[in-house]
Amino acid sequence: MKHMEEFSVKKRQEAPVPLSAISLVDTHCHLDMNAYAHDLDVVLQNAFQHNVRAVVSVGIDVHSSRRAVELARRYPMISATVGIHPHDVDNITDKTLPILADLAERNKEHIVGYGEIGLDYVKQYSSPENQRRQFRNQLSLADELGLPVIIHDREAHEDALTILQEGPLHYGGIMHCFSGDLDFAKKILDRGLHISIPGTVTFKNATLLQEVARKIPLSSLLLETDGPFLAPHPYRGKRNEPLFMLYTAQVVAGLRDISIEELARQTSQNAGALFGLHHLNSPQK
Ligand SMILES: [Zn+2]
Repeated sequence: MKHMEEFSVKKRQEAPVPLSAISLVDTHCHLDMNAYAHDLDVVLQNAFQHNVRAVVSVGIDVHSSRRAVELARRYPMISATVGIHPHDVDNITDKTLPILADLAERNKEHIVGYGEIGLDYVKQYSSPENQRRQFRNQLSLADELGLPVIIHDREAHEDALTILQEGPLHYGGIMHCFSGDLDFAKKILDRGLHISIPGTVTFKNATLLQEVARKIPLSSLLLETDGPFLAPHPYRGKRNEPLFMLYTAQVVAGLRDISIEELARQTSQNAGALFGLHHLNSPQK
Protein backbone atom coordinates (compact mmCIF):
# COMPACT_ATOMS: atom_id res chain seq x y z
CA MET A 1 0.00 0.00 0.00
CA LYS A 2 1.54 3.27 -1.07
CA HIS A 3 1.89 6.35 1.06
CA MET A 4 0.23 4.84 4.12
CA GLU A 5 2.42 6.78 6.50
CA GLU A 6 1.89 10.05 4.69
CA PHE A 7 -1.80 10.04 5.48
CA SER A 8 -1.69 9.12 9.11
CA VAL A 9 -4.12 11.42 10.88
CA LYS A 10 -1.79 11.46 13.84
CA LYS A 11 0.19 13.93 11.76
CA ARG A 12 -2.78 16.24 11.33
CA GLN A 13 -0.81 19.41 11.83
CA GLU A 14 1.57 18.73 8.95
CA ALA A 15 0.83 18.79 5.25
CA PRO A 16 2.98 15.85 4.13
CA VAL A 17 1.93 15.93 0.47
CA PRO A 18 2.27 19.07 -1.63
CA LEU A 19 -1.19 20.58 -1.94
CA SER A 20 -1.12 20.40 -5.68
CA ALA A 21 -0.21 16.71 -5.76
CA ILE A 22 -3.66 15.31 -5.19
CA SER A 23 -7.12 16.53 -4.48
CA LEU A 24 -10.03 14.43 -3.33
CA VAL A 25 -13.73 15.19 -3.37
CA ASP A 26 -16.05 13.88 -0.68
CA THR A 27 -19.17 13.48 -2.81
CA HIS A 28 -21.52 12.73 0.07
CA CYS A 29 -21.46 14.07 3.61
CA HIS A 30 -24.07 15.50 5.98
CA LEU A 31 -22.20 18.51 7.30
CA ASP A 32 -25.38 20.14 8.58
CA MET A 33 -25.85 17.44 11.21
CA ASN A 34 -25.32 18.07 14.92
CA ALA A 35 -22.28 15.79 14.91
CA TYR A 36 -20.30 18.69 13.36
CA ALA A 37 -21.98 21.58 15.15
CA HIS A 38 -19.15 22.16 17.62
CA ASP A 39 -16.10 21.89 15.30
CA LEU A 40 -17.03 22.25 11.64
CA ASP A 41 -14.26 24.81 11.03
CA VAL A 42 -11.65 22.36 12.30
CA VAL A 43 -13.16 19.45 10.38
CA LEU A 44 -12.97 21.41 7.12
CA GLN A 45 -9.51 22.74 7.81
CA ASN A 46 -8.14 19.26 8.53
CA ALA A 47 -9.74 17.92 5.38
CA PHE A 48 -8.43 20.74 3.19
CA GLN A 49 -4.89 20.50 4.58
CA HIS A 50 -4.90 16.82 3.69
CA ASN A 51 -6.14 17.40 0.17
CA VAL A 52 -9.82 16.69 0.58
CA ARG A 53 -10.63 19.84 -1.34
CA ALA A 54 -14.36 19.75 -1.85
CA VAL A 55 -17.30 18.34 0.07
CA VAL A 56 -20.86 17.92 -1.15
CA SER A 57 -23.24 18.41 1.77
CA VAL A 58 -26.35 16.42 0.99
CA GLY A 59 -29.87 17.39 2.02
CA ILE A 60 -32.31 14.87 3.46
CA ASP A 61 -35.31 17.11 4.17
CA VAL A 62 -36.28 20.76 3.77
CA HIS A 63 -34.45 21.87 6.89
CA SER A 64 -31.18 20.10 6.06
CA SER A 65 -31.37 21.25 2.43
CA ARG A 66 -31.61 24.86 3.62
CA ARG A 67 -28.76 24.27 6.05
CA ALA A 68 -26.61 22.72 3.32
CA VAL A 69 -27.13 25.82 1.18
CA GLU A 70 -26.23 28.07 4.12
CA LEU A 71 -23.02 26.12 4.64
CA ALA A 72 -22.18 26.30 0.94
CA ARG A 73 -22.61 30.08 1.08
CA ARG A 74 -20.30 30.30 4.07
CA TYR A 75 -17.54 27.85 3.11
CA PRO A 76 -15.93 27.81 -0.35
CA MET A 77 -15.12 24.08 -0.01
CA ILE A 78 -18.77 23.11 0.37
CA SER A 79 -21.39 22.58 -2.30
CA ALA A 80 -24.97 21.62 -1.50
CA THR A 81 -27.74 19.37 -2.72
CA VAL A 82 -31.45 19.52 -1.92
CA GLY A 83 -33.87 16.63 -1.63
CA ILE A 84 -36.10 14.50 0.56
CA HIS A 85 -34.64 11.20 1.82
CA PRO A 86 -36.84 8.10 1.44
CA HIS A 87 -37.12 7.95 5.25
CA ASP A 88 -38.91 11.28 5.18
CA VAL A 89 -41.14 11.19 2.11
CA ASP A 90 -44.31 10.51 4.13
CA ASN A 91 -43.91 14.07 5.42
CA ILE A 92 -43.96 15.61 1.94
CA THR A 93 -46.85 18.04 1.46
CA ASP A 94 -47.98 20.02 -1.60
CA LYS A 95 -45.55 22.74 -0.56
CA THR A 96 -42.41 20.65 -0.08
CA LEU A 97 -41.12 20.14 -3.61
CA PRO A 98 -41.91 23.73 -4.69
CA ILE A 99 -39.87 24.93 -1.70
CA LEU A 100 -36.89 22.83 -2.82
CA ALA A 101 -37.31 23.95 -6.43
CA ASP A 102 -37.32 27.58 -5.32
CA LEU A 103 -34.25 27.01 -3.13
CA ALA A 104 -32.42 25.42 -6.06
CA GLU A 105 -33.39 28.18 -8.50
CA ARG A 106 -32.24 30.92 -6.14
CA ASN A 107 -28.90 29.26 -5.28
CA LYS A 108 -27.67 27.89 -8.56
CA GLU A 109 -24.04 28.64 -7.83
CA HIS A 110 -24.14 26.56 -4.65
CA ILE A 111 -26.47 23.68 -5.49
CA VAL A 112 -24.82 20.97 -7.55
CA GLY A 113 -27.25 18.07 -7.30
CA TYR A 114 -30.63 16.77 -6.23
CA GLY A 115 -30.86 14.24 -3.41
CA GLU A 116 -30.61 12.18 -1.60
CA ILE A 117 -33.65 10.42 -2.96
CA GLY A 118 -34.56 6.80 -3.50
CA LEU A 119 -35.77 3.74 -1.69
CA ASP A 120 -35.02 2.25 1.73
CA TYR A 121 -36.75 -1.06 2.34
CA VAL A 122 -34.74 -1.83 5.47
CA LYS A 123 -36.15 0.75 7.83
CA GLN A 124 -39.36 1.65 5.98
CA TYR A 125 -39.89 4.83 7.98
CA SER A 126 -42.06 5.85 5.05
CA SER A 127 -44.34 3.46 3.20
CA PRO A 128 -42.65 1.66 0.28
CA GLU A 129 -45.46 2.67 -2.05
CA ASN A 130 -45.02 6.33 -1.20
CA GLN A 131 -41.23 5.96 -1.46
CA ARG A 132 -41.60 4.79 -5.05
CA ARG A 133 -44.07 7.57 -5.89
CA GLN A 134 -41.90 10.32 -4.43
CA PHE A 135 -38.75 8.85 -5.95
CA ARG A 136 -40.40 9.26 -9.36
CA ASN A 137 -41.64 12.76 -8.51
CA GLN A 138 -38.23 13.88 -7.34
CA LEU A 139 -36.44 12.38 -10.34
CA SER A 140 -38.73 14.49 -12.52
CA LEU A 141 -38.09 17.61 -10.48
CA ALA A 142 -34.31 17.06 -10.59
CA ASP A 143 -34.54 16.79 -14.36
CA GLU A 144 -36.58 20.00 -14.59
CA LEU A 145 -33.96 21.73 -12.47
CA GLY A 146 -31.15 20.34 -14.62
CA LEU A 147 -29.42 18.63 -11.69
CA PRO A 148 -27.70 15.25 -11.34
CA VAL A 149 -29.35 12.98 -8.77
CA ILE A 150 -27.92 11.37 -5.64
CA ILE A 151 -29.63 8.05 -5.06
CA HIS A 152 -30.07 6.12 -1.83
CA ASP A 153 -30.90 2.43 -2.29
CA ARG A 154 -31.05 -0.03 0.59
CA GLU A 155 -32.37 -3.51 -0.09
CA ALA A 156 -34.38 -2.10 -2.98
CA HIS A 157 -32.11 -2.75 -5.96
CA GLU A 158 -34.74 -4.15 -8.29
CA ASP A 159 -37.33 -1.42 -7.76
CA ALA A 160 -34.69 1.31 -7.82
CA LEU A 161 -33.41 0.04 -11.16
CA THR A 162 -36.93 -0.20 -12.62
CA ILE A 163 -37.69 3.40 -11.66
CA LEU A 164 -34.30 4.65 -12.87
CA GLN A 165 -34.84 2.92 -16.19
CA GLU A 166 -38.20 4.58 -16.80
CA GLY A 167 -37.43 8.02 -15.39
CA PRO A 168 -35.80 11.02 -17.00
CA LEU A 169 -32.12 11.14 -16.19
CA HIS A 170 -30.59 13.71 -18.50
CA TYR A 171 -28.06 15.04 -16.02
CA GLY A 172 -26.66 11.80 -14.70
CA GLY A 173 -26.24 10.92 -11.09
CA ILE A 174 -24.73 8.77 -8.42
CA MET A 175 -25.68 5.54 -6.75
CA HIS A 176 -24.41 6.67 -3.38
CA CYS A 177 -23.03 4.32 -0.72
CA PHE A 178 -23.20 1.47 -3.20
CA SER A 179 -24.33 -1.80 -1.62
CA GLY A 180 -25.00 -4.17 -4.51
CA ASP A 181 -22.87 -6.76 -6.28
CA LEU A 182 -20.92 -6.42 -9.51
CA ASP A 183 -23.87 -7.54 -11.61
CA PHE A 184 -26.06 -4.78 -10.18
CA ALA A 185 -23.21 -2.31 -10.58
CA LYS A 186 -23.08 -3.07 -14.30
CA LYS A 187 -26.79 -2.36 -14.66
CA ILE A 188 -26.36 0.95 -12.84
CA LEU A 189 -23.44 1.87 -15.09
CA ASP A 190 -25.48 0.92 -18.16
CA ARG A 191 -28.02 3.50 -17.01
CA GLY A 192 -25.26 6.10 -17.17
CA LEU A 193 -24.88 6.59 -13.44
CA HIS A 194 -21.74 6.81 -11.35
CA ILE A 195 -21.06 4.54 -8.40
CA SER A 196 -19.83 5.99 -5.14
CA ILE A 197 -17.75 3.84 -2.82
CA PRO A 198 -18.11 4.52 0.92
CA GLY A 199 -15.72 3.88 3.80
CA THR A 200 -17.17 0.45 4.45
CA VAL A 201 -14.93 -0.79 1.61
CA THR A 202 -12.12 -0.72 4.18
CA PHE A 203 -13.80 -3.39 6.32
CA LYS A 204 -12.24 -6.84 6.03
CA ASN A 205 -15.51 -8.61 5.27
CA ALA A 206 -16.64 -6.16 2.57
CA THR A 207 -15.73 -8.53 -0.25
CA LEU A 208 -18.65 -7.69 -2.58
CA LEU A 209 -18.02 -3.96 -2.34
CA GLN A 210 -14.28 -4.49 -2.77
CA GLU A 211 -14.93 -6.42 -5.96
CA VAL A 212 -17.09 -3.58 -7.28
CA ALA A 213 -14.45 -1.00 -6.33
CA ARG A 214 -11.81 -3.07 -8.11
CA LYS A 215 -13.66 -3.81 -11.33
CA ILE A 216 -15.88 -0.89 -12.37
CA PRO A 217 -14.33 1.59 -14.82
CA LEU A 218 -12.36 4.30 -13.08
CA SER A 219 -14.29 6.85 -15.12
CA SER A 220 -17.49 5.87 -13.25
CA LEU A 221 -16.07 5.73 -9.75
CA LEU A 222 -16.56 8.30 -6.99
CA LEU A 223 -15.62 8.32 -3.31
CA GLU A 224 -17.61 9.48 -0.31
CA THR A 225 -17.68 9.43 3.46
CA ASP A 226 -21.45 9.58 4.14
CA GLY A 227 -20.29 11.30 7.32
CA PRO A 228 -21.07 11.41 10.16
CA PHE A 229 -21.96 7.75 9.48
CA LEU A 230 -19.93 4.75 8.32
CA ALA A 231 -16.41 5.76 9.34
CA PRO A 232 -13.75 3.64 7.61
CA HIS A 233 -11.28 1.38 9.38
CA PRO A 234 -9.48 2.24 11.71
CA TYR A 235 -12.20 4.66 12.88
CA ARG A 236 -15.11 2.26 12.54
CA GLY A 237 -17.90 3.24 14.94
CA LYS A 238 -16.53 6.77 15.45
CA ARG A 239 -17.82 9.97 13.87
CA ASN A 240 -16.91 9.99 10.20
CA GLU A 241 -15.58 13.18 8.59
CA PRO A 242 -14.22 14.26 5.19
CA LEU A 243 -10.59 13.78 6.27
CA PHE A 244 -11.22 10.04 6.54
CA MET A 245 -11.65 9.91 2.76
CA LEU A 246 -7.92 9.28 2.78
CA TYR A 247 -8.38 5.81 4.26
CA THR A 248 -11.05 4.91 1.75
CA ALA A 249 -8.94 6.24 -1.12
CA GLN A 250 -5.92 4.28 0.07
CA VAL A 251 -7.85 1.03 0.14
CA VAL A 252 -9.50 1.60 -3.25
CA ALA A 253 -6.16 2.56 -4.84
CA GLY A 254 -4.65 -0.60 -3.34
CA LEU A 255 -7.49 -2.77 -4.68
CA ARG A 256 -6.96 -1.37 -8.16
CA ASP A 257 -3.19 -1.41 -7.88
CA ILE A 258 -2.86 2.24 -8.84
CA SER A 259 -1.36 5.16 -6.95
CA ILE A 260 -3.55 7.25 -4.69
CA GLU A 261 -2.59 10.22 -6.88
CA GLU A 262 -4.03 8.53 -9.95
CA LEU A 263 -7.20 7.57 -8.10
CA ALA A 264 -7.58 11.09 -6.73
CA ARG A 265 -7.01 12.66 -10.14
CA GLN A 266 -9.61 10.53 -11.88
CA THR A 267 -12.28 10.55 -9.16
CA SER A 268 -11.98 14.31 -8.71
CA GLN A 269 -12.29 14.76 -12.44
CA ASN A 270 -15.43 12.59 -12.39
CA ALA A 271 -16.94 14.56 -9.53
CA GLY A 272 -15.92 17.86 -11.07
CA ALA A 273 -17.57 17.03 -14.37
CA LEU A 274 -20.76 15.65 -12.82
CA PHE A 275 -21.26 18.44 -10.29
CA GLY A 276 -19.65 21.27 -12.21
CA LEU A 277 -17.04 21.93 -9.53
CA HIS A 278 -14.51 24.38 -10.86
CA HIS A 279 -12.75 25.34 -7.69
CA LEU A 280 -11.01 22.12 -6.73
CA ASN A 281 -7.54 23.56 -6.64
CA SER A 282 -8.34 26.77 -4.93
CA PRO A 283 -9.75 27.52 -1.50
CA GLN A 284 -11.96 30.08 -3.24
CA LYS A 285 -14.92 29.26 -5.45
ZN1 LIG B 1 -26.46 10.24 3.08
